[in-house]
Amino acid sequence: MRAYDLILKKRSGGELSTAEIKYLISAYNAGEIADYQMAAFCMAVYFQGMSHRETADLTLAMAQSGAINDLSGIEGSVIDKHSTGGVGDTTTLIVAPLVASCGVPIAKMSGRALGHTGGTIDKLESIPGFKVELSQAEFIRQVNEIKVSLISQTETIAPADKKLYALRDVTATVDSLPLIAASIMSKKIASGADGFVLDVKTGSGAFMQKLEDAVELAKTMVAIGKLAGKPTIALVTDMDQPLGTAIGNALEVKEAIAVLSGNGAWDLTELCLRLGAEMLVLAEHSSDYQAAYDTLLEKLQTKAGLEKLRELIANQGGNPDVIDNPSLLPAADYQTVVTSSQSGFIKSIDALKLGSLVMQLGAGRIDKASSIDYSVGIELKVKAGTYVGINQPLAVVHSSQPLKNEPEAVRDCFGFSQSPPPFRRLIWRKITGGDV
Ligand code: URA
Ligand code: CA
Repeated sequence: MRAYDLILKKRSGGELSTAEIKYLISAYNAGEIADYQMAAFCMAVYFQGMSHRETADLTLAMAQSGAINDLSGIEGSVIDKHSTGGVGDTTTLIVAPLVASCGVPIAKMSGRALGHTGGTIDKLESIPGFKVELSQAEFIRQVNEIKVSLISQTETIAPADKKLYALRDVTATVDSLPLIAASIMSKKIASGADGFVLDVKTGSGAFMQKLEDAVELAKTMVAIGKLAGKPTIALVTDMDQPLGTAIGNALEVKEAIAVLSGNGAWDLTELCLRLGAEMLVLAEHSSDYQAAYDTLLEKLQTKAGLEKLRELIANQGGNPDVIDNPSLLPAADYQTVVTSSQSGFIKSIDALKLGSLVMQLGAGRIDKASSIDYSVGIELKVKAGTYVGINQPLAVVHSSQPLKNEPEAVRDCFGFSQSPPPFRRLIWRKITGGDV
């Protein structure tokens, strides 16, 4: 087989065989196909697309380019949750302990901040002492003992995806639907779980801004899960405004504690219950969706999920006292209130711009080597639909330096209308194996 022929076949709109896709990925991973040929192939895929079968083959080839994590030592089936990335998306910190408090095992590998979106691992590292790296034996033992462990993705997971992602990043081929779907699902499958609940974001703060694109991505990923023999469902959820009220690492840990205490924002709380309920159903813990939802609501009300988060933190070397005393988390030196220069209903909150601003404050990395300021971020004082008067607070900016133009930039993220804006849905679609 020659890379040239496969590039030509895809460029002409042909469908590659399983063997051809396997060859392309394994030879690229072994350094036998050059970056320029693989870049040309990605561009051909960008314009011609791939069938679900081709995308599933690409996913499996990338998953098999490294080790498939062995979770067979865990009692019970392991269901993983994945979000395609949003702003202030604190869900893992809430859903993981909540589901684990029902006795369903959570053995999850998470990532770090990417672009304007935050990463669970960075958020966890804002808890003093919290270790995100455990040996495989420690990971399995902890899940069997307390039902939950959250660790950072290991180097052995889907190395071909790592190489390919870096190439796509510099060749304008990131936003190809089959390439995104295969990239995400290859890492999920390699992480060893038995089934997946996917949270596919749509709206101004998401990679897939248009609903149709997000639905198509969700369908493609559910089809890959099905073809790989792993039960998968996807919720297409709203990321037109940030989720909850906190954006930033330590601020989101504080927010997770608030939600698990029953004092969280409505949207974040409801999304966590909905995603968690889907996980309980896939894990066959609950007979139906409503029973699963009610169980999780009870765990929220009895604070069983909060106690599970405390246990998780203590077991991974973190200071569990942050639960009762969130002021033990890193706090920023400066807190600046941004007020409204007009009155009216909040019509829109630009999640993409706010996410980028928080990264610029120091919550993300500028390059691989740079460090993160865990304390910085933005707290929203209003959500879409809130009525505000003139000079009322819109947000609080947490920063390590006095602010310059940032308050103006934050104020510009809020759109106004004189009548109440239409209610925007939180969950747009549910895609199951039967839909693909
Ligand atoms: N996230 C991923 O892991 N891969 C992509 O291609 C896009 C988002
Ligand atoms: Ca949030």
